Amino acid sequence: MSFISRNFASSFKPVCNSLLHNARFYSTLDSSKLVIEKTTNPKPQIPQNELVFGKYFTDHMLEIEWDKETGWKSPKISPYHNLSLDPSTIVFHYAFELFEGMKAYKGAQGEIRTFRGDKNMVRMNKSAERIALPQFDGEELLKLIDQLLILDKKFIPQGKGYSLYIRPTMIGTSASLGVSVPDKALLYVICSPVGPYYSSGFKPVSLEATDYAVRAWPGGVGDKKLGANYAPCVLPQLKAAEKGFHQNLWLFGDEGYITEVGTMNAFFVLKDAKTGKKELVTAPLDGTILEGVTRDSILELARDRLSQDEWVISERKFTIHEIKQAAKEGCLVEAFGAGTAAVVSPIKNIGYKGEDINVPISLGNSGELTAQVAEWIRKIQYGEEEYKGWSRIAKV
Ligand SMILES: *Cc1c(COP(=O)(O)O)cnc(C)c1O
Repeated sequence: MSFISRNFASSFKPVCNSLLHNARFYSTLDSSKLVIEKTTNPKPQIPQNELVFGKYFTDHMLEIEWDKETGWKSPKISPYHNLSLDPSTIVFHYAFELFEGMKAYKGAQGEIRTFRGDKNMVRMNKSAERIALPQFDGEELLKLIDQLLILDKKFIPQGKGYSLYIRPTMIGTSASLGVSVPDKALLYVICSPVGPYYSSGFKPVSLEATDYAVRAWPGGVGDKKLGANYAPCVLPQLKAAEKGFHQNLWLFGDEGYITEVGTMNAFFVLKDAKTGKKELVTAPLDGTILEGVTRDSILELARDRLSQDEWVISERKFTIHEIKQAAKEGCLVEAFGAGTAAVVSPIKNIGYKGEDINVPISLGNSGELTAQVAEWIRKIQYGEEEYKGWSRIAKV
């Protein structure tokens, strides 16, 4: 009897596990399973001075398929190609799409460097979770991206301001019109060589403080890099452009809170007239603000490197009225947008309700801190300076 019951006990476990079908057959993302199919038809090199953002792509792309039953399949690097998807595929109808934006830089020794990619991986998983797409091991994806970069190394332009823009993307690929949890997904990564955002020094931008349209709202998804957040922002940008502004300064609420600028985080420098102390201020991560890697890097470097006797670094809510008042009193020092594409983008003017708020650009094309943080970050990105392991070198 005891023999039988022991046998029964040992066979019980697998029965229970088979109820958790997924757990038993589910594979996690595994970079060691990478399969590489090299191109036989290499693309011609685009001359560095002819690069246009996001228009040209490298020879290869990375793809990893996922399905609910078996998890992540073997990663594949193959020649850059079109995707073939059923017209009913869930991404086309209900926007099951999310993306990341990061860059690879070529260092002085020709080494390939990426900047704080671990932050992009955490954010990508947060975006995926929000739209019921699968989670993955970020370090495994970074290892795969490293292999893609090594294979397409010749496409990474060298020189100050040059880089390879990396676009990790995830889409739901279930072929069905039902609004439901995708049971299939595709994670892919494409890369585009890019030139300096500013080819001849900064070009400060002019903003429309936009209050008739809202980019993000409490309880919404403005803090996630979901494709669905971006299409609705193009028309307001077009309208701002018709009035002569480069970008939207996104306001929120009756209070006129400043949230972001275009697709960048917004930073302002204000001076306290009494103490003479300066404040670097950006909006807090309250769910309406994209958690920018550049934003985080600027805050950390500023807290680390700016003198506490002269500076206060703040993540707090602030309004267009506060900025307008500060400008009037001569206490607005400078302002800039921050994001991977440009690192920093100086602001020279804000149009609000038919009035212009002039933002000082003390160095001619930017403020002093704007130029300073741009240089801090550039040095780390290109490996001229080591800082807290923020720059990762791709290894085979
Ligand atoms: C991507 C993005 C940013 C900047 O994020 P980085 O990680 O610094 O590139 C800021 N705001 C929005 C809305 C974005 O999509």
